[in-house]
Amino acid sequence: MVSRVIPVDPFDLVIFGGTGDLARRKILPGLYRRFWAGQVPDGFRIIGAARTDQDSDVWRDFVREAITEFVTEAKREPETIDAFLAQLHYIPVDARGDSGWPELAEMMRGDVTQAFYFSVGPGLFGDLAERLQRFNISCEDCRIVVEKPFGRDLSSAKALNATLAEHFDEQQIYRIDHYLGKETVQNLMAVRFANVLFEPLWNAQYIDHVQITVAEEVGVGGRGGYYDKSGAMRDMVQNHLMQLLCLTAMEPPSRFGPDAVRDEKLKVIRALDPLGQGDIVRGQYTAASGEPSYLEDVENPDSRTESFIALKVHVANWRWNGTPFYLRTGKRMKARNSEIVVTFKEPPHSIFDADAGSRANVLSIRLQPDEGMDLRVTIKEPGPGGMRLVDVPLDMSFADALGPEAADVPDAYERLIMDVIRGNQTLFMRGDEVEAAWAWTDPIIAAWTERGDRPLPYAPGSSGPEDALILMHKDGRRWREIA
Ligand code: NAD
Repeated sequence: MVSRVIPVDPFDLVIFGGTGDLARRKILPGLYRRFWAGQVPDGFRIIGAARTDQDSDVWRDFVREAITEFVTEAKREPETIDAFLAQLHYIPVDARGDSGWPELAEMMRGDVTQAFYFSVGPGLFGDLAERLQRFNISCEDCRIVVEKPFGRDLSSAKALNATLAEHFDEQQIYRIDHYLGKETVQNLMAVRFANVLFEPLWNAQYIDHVQITVAEEVGVGGRGGYYDKSGAMRDMVQNHLMQLLCLTAMEPPSRFGPDAVRDEKLKVIRALDPLGQGDIVRGQYTAASGEPSYLEDVENPDSRTESFIALKVHVANWRWNGTPFYLRTGKRMKARNSEIVVTFKEPPHSIFDADAGSRANVLSIRLQPDEGMDLRVTIKEPGPGGMRLVDVPLDMSFADALGPEAADVPDAYERLIMDVIRGNQTLFMRGDEVEAAWAWTDPIIAAWTERGDRPLPYAPGSSGPEDALILMHKDGRRWREIA
């Protein structure tokens, strides 16, 4: 297979929060993997900037350990790691004070691409943006990358957007949603818009319903304090699940470019109907076999925050009238499994005997654990005994079709960071999109808060509360097994 990677210009990438958990687990190992793959240009530099007072050598040791822990052995060649670490520098910087900023200004090169990754809590975004400008570090073409959570409601998101807009243009702001960096999510767009096969059927006339599941096996663990103020709706639905919904439901953009794609996603969010009480099921996991319950995990016996949510959502436009989108996400579920499942309608008339069986076509787009797509088609069961129908997978496995290296797809973070360096915002959220998503979720959260609703208990290792199953059963449908 011929590699057709778009070349990248030399860059200075500053990681604010370079000693933090996200930098250690995702950003730095991801950058190393791109370097290992030969996709990072000569002359790049990565500058760690954080509160800890330490020198570059100590930070390089930290990065070496991160690579050892999070990069597969086959890619950990000692010379390659050394060459990567040689391009790394560290500067202690106080986001809330003035120390470290003159040194950082001194370090930056004016003649290369400059990007600043805000891998710190959102409370520091404004401080960083203001200081980048005040110390003359930011430039017209500089990019900033901001992490979730982007606000906790519409007013805080608006305030955050306004603060960033004081110092940077929208074209410079890259709001990360790492779900958009996943290979299969982008493949969803390729399947929809690079084939004539699917798009004519991609509407309420032929699609019965869509399910989007993001299930996690883990509980809230050490993040209990943060999570309890947030909950599944804010932490997962407002961003990740809504982004997946948008890509599934949007109209074909005129081109695969930042504004064309984001305009179409925005239209989907604006077309979402308000939700009624009967469209929502919220849950909290209980204790089991020595593992603490949600309430114990967050150390709040009266918490009404949900660790699980299922929703029935309507996109109110011509294309989707009558085709519901069922969304669910939760912690401590049966398995770690994220997928978009598009269930088509059954043929309007069957020419086969009733006992031949009939099945709907199902297209599933798996995000994790193994990225891939699968289309189930109905065929005749081989062998004698008349016409019996059976559904089989028309498997779209990248490795089988394109060679083993095609299966070695970059992690979402590394792909997105390289897009920042290339200056491509297509897979990043625009400010108005984020605000529109909060504008839809805010009244839903306000309604259950006002009613004082308590989430329903569900057993760890299950598919959520019984009522989530009923949400679909009452429509004559069922969730796909979480496996
Ligand atoms: P962390 O607490 O592990 O690290 C925070 C970093 O910020 C540290 O490097 C610390 O030195 C730096 N910092 C804090 N105060 C500072 C100051 N005044 N001046 C300079 N540096 C300062 O946090 P994290 O888990 O790495 O998360 C970083 C951001 O990414 C947060 O916004 C978080 O919500 C988001 N995020 C994290 C994850 C994850 O898996 N960890 C996932 C998604 C989003």
